[in-house]
Amino acid sequence: MTTDSHVIVLGTHNRKKGRELSELVATWGLTVKTLADFPAPLCVVEDGATFAENARRKACQQARHLGTWVLGEDSGLAVAALGGRPGVCSARYAGPQATDAANTQHLLEELQGVPAAQRWAHYVCHITLADAGGVVRAESEACCHGRITTAPRGTAGFGYDPVFEIAEYHRTFAELGDAVKAVLSHRGRAVRRLLAALRPLIPQLPSS
Ligand code: IMP
Repeated sequence: MTTDSHVIVLGTHNRKKGRELSELVATWGLTVKTLADFPAPLCVVEDGATFAENARRKACQQARHLGTWVLGEDSGLAVAALGGRPGVCSARYAGPQATDAANTQHLLEELQGVPAAQRWAHYVCHITLADAGGVVRAESEACCHGRITTAPRGTAGFGYDPVFEIAEYHRTFAELGDAVKAVLSHRGRAVRRLLAALRPLIPQLPSS
């Protein structure tokens, strides 16, 4: 694709997630901007009941505010033994300003004593593309299945990656590293899925 002149804005304030998304979206051949490129982006309140609702809020509210097309993303971890928690509360599982390490520790405590065969979990990622008027123009959602280890392993990635093990590899995402995660992850899959719907819209995207 030779679409360098067309711009897309990633509507996330999460720097680690923003970096992953930027690298994934870079394969589309568009000029990628982040909220850091704007003087006063919105801090969208993420109080939706689903990943889809939150992604739509981040895309539509920010797009209207900035007056440009925005890609909103919401993601998190659903653990079977916890009835799907932490889910949409993944970022604040251990408290409102919780660090990744605190959230991970809280998860391991909640799962203390749960045997390996019952530690299944999946990441979910929902992506919404909104136009400058805040109208949803394309969406995709994808999952990535794994299981929760009993202790953190590895240093790559972010969030729950040190305790999220891909069963086939016997390695956590934090051990497997960015390149493997980009292929297998919920975010990588959702971004690749969105591309088919995005392609015909590219001529409508603003120019840089
Ligand atoms: P939010 O979408 O900004 O509300 O935050 C998503 C939260 O879910 C992150 O802060 C992480 O705790 C978790 N999460 C989402 N995607 C990933 C991932 O790829 N690896 C690890 N944790 C993730």
